[in-house]
Amino acid sequence: MTKARQAVLNAVKDSSIPLSAGEIHKKIILPMDLVTVYRALKYLEEHGHLVSFSFACTLKRTERYYYHRKDPHVHFFHCEGCHRFIDMGLCQLDPIVSTIEKEQRVQILSHTLYFTGLCAECLEAKSPKPAEPATPRPAGF
Ligand SMILES: [Zn+2]
Ligand SMILES: [Zn+2]
Ligand SMILES: [Zn+2]
Repeated sequence: MTKARQAVLNAVKDSSIPLSAGEIHKKIILPMDLVTVYRALKYLEEHGHLVSFSFACTLKRTERYYYHRKDPHVHFFHCEGCHRFIDMGLCQLDPIVSTIEKEQRVQILSHTLYFTGLCAECLEAKSPKPAEPATPRPAGF
């Protein structure tokens, strides 16, 4: 594998969340232009090292994100509050995949799944602050 491809693969491998080509480019110390990064990504995906998906976020335009192909794989969550990806842990869909295979009489080789919503911190920031204790009224009223 060429140095450029290896550097791109390592940058993606080192990340627990999917990265865009621009983000990968920023992580690489080797002098390399963005076109080379794109070419390396294309090669690495074609050869089964990486998986990519196209993702449209309410803040950023549609981008392609890359992650390392692993078995078992993990799923991702994108927060629409702070616009970051979070690793959601290992896939738990095996039973569902088997059911679909039986019902639809197909063989499922792979799937890409991501969730969107609000992360724990954004939920916390949104929730109303606990109310101040009510001032006790003077007795007799
Ligand atoms: Zn968030
Ligand atoms: Zn977003
Ligand atoms: Zn899965």
